[in-house]
Amino acid sequence: MSLDSITLYLVATMVAGLLGAMLVYFGRQENNPALKWWGTAYLLGAASVALWTTASQTLGEMLSLALNAVGFIACGMVWNAARVFHGRKPNLPGLVLGALAWIAAAMALGPKDSALRLTIGAAIVAIYAALTATELWFERRKSLQHRWPAIAIPVLHGFVLLLPILLGDLLIHDGEKFGSSIWVTVFSIELVLYAVGTVFVIFMLVSERTVTVHKTAASMDPLTGLLNRRGFSEACARVIEREAGAGRPVSVMIFDIDHFKSINDRFGHPAGDELLKLFSTLVVNNLRISDLSGRIGGEEFAALLPCPLEEGVLVAERVREAFEGSGIVCEQGPVDTTVSIGVAGGPAGTELEVLLACADTALYQAKRGGRNRVEAAVELPLSLENWRRKSAGLKPSPRPDQAVA
Ligand code: GH3
Ligand code: MG
Ligand code: MG
Repeated sequence: MSLDSITLYLVATMVAGLLGAMLVYFGRQENNPALKWWGTAYLLGAASVALWTTASQTLGEMLSLALNAVGFIACGMVWNAARVFHGRKPNLPGLVLGALAWIAAAMALGPKDSALRLTIGAAIVAIYAALTATELWFERRKSLQHRWPAIAIPVLHGFVLLLPILLGDLLIHDGEKFGSSIWVTVFSIELVLYAVGTVFVIFMLVSERTVTVHKTAASMDPLTGLLNRRGFSEACARVIEREAGAGRPVSVMIFDIDHFKSINDRFGHPAGDELLKLFSTLVVNNLRISDLSGRIGGEEFAALLPCPLEEGVLVAERVREAFEGSGIVCEQGPVDTTVSIGVAGGPAGTELEVLLACADTALYQAKRGGRNRVEAAVELPLSLENWRRKSAGLKPSPRPDQAVA
């Protein structure tokens, strides 16, 4: 069975065109501009390759050049799709620069110097492919981890777009009939695979992004932008494990704004919300970049610091003082801004639950002691179970090595 290469090309470009239409359709449905850019790039690329394949002999020099230029614009659109996908603005001069450079070079060189024209065309495609791969590479370092296919595909895609020029020009150059080579067949099959593969990667990126957005939303507090209780616990578990590996102690503090209910009652709920935002900013500003903070309840916040208890107490005191001195005044008068803080510290590897439970006891003492103060937990329970039993007035359970056989 022999495969007609022109037919294969047409099938390949039709597949690319259909995928382009699908991307544009989903881009519109999902209101995702990056998908629209990608889809349009596919449609343009497919149309230019299809026309060039079937009619380049009859189109004349200028139209043929213009078709190539459209192909380069399609490459530029793929690069811009990656930019838009990462929330950056499309680079319009960059989009058309390749096409303009191509037309200028081709006109300057004339049709005879096809080898040099070929090299210039190859360079333009390679530059766009490199730009696309770079765009995806930098984003990979930010958040998404498994995207090597997304970097490999644009590079290969560059070669794919390059090959029609390469094969066509070389074969015509050698005086052979276009399409007679086995490579043309191989290439057109590859084109279909790449077109499908790229769409697969695009959807992988989009779905990964969606999962990341949902995951972030599930661990964030929308009012303050801090981690919520769940996000805080998960992040703390990672930090505690890391610090335990290095044998370093950790401290946990719980902040509870004093008489917050009465602030709501006197100044209104929206003013209360504003105060929560202000407090969260104040906490973040008084912590180091390596510290974690989160909103673990209505007017309760928590922080985890990779440091011993004494240092934690100093930080807590700094936050308390800063909040007291924030000097907030509403239309109804000055707002009293004080906070009570309980701090607990433990040796490397102490569980978050244990630290939180101790910090909570210290916080209770700070409230009982008159509020607007920092209290440190005096002792750390050996285990949460024993601590609970002790708090409930029961005897602690014996350690396994003390158990009577
Ligand atoms: P204490 O000094 O003992 O901590 O007294 P408190 O009034 O701060 O404590 P209490 O637990 O009695 O009240 C907490 C209040 O926090 C009650 C609730 O209406 C308010 N609150 C919880 N979440 C929010 C929120 O998201 N926004 C606002 N504005 N208020 C909230
Ligand atoms: Mg409270
Ligand atoms: Mg309170």
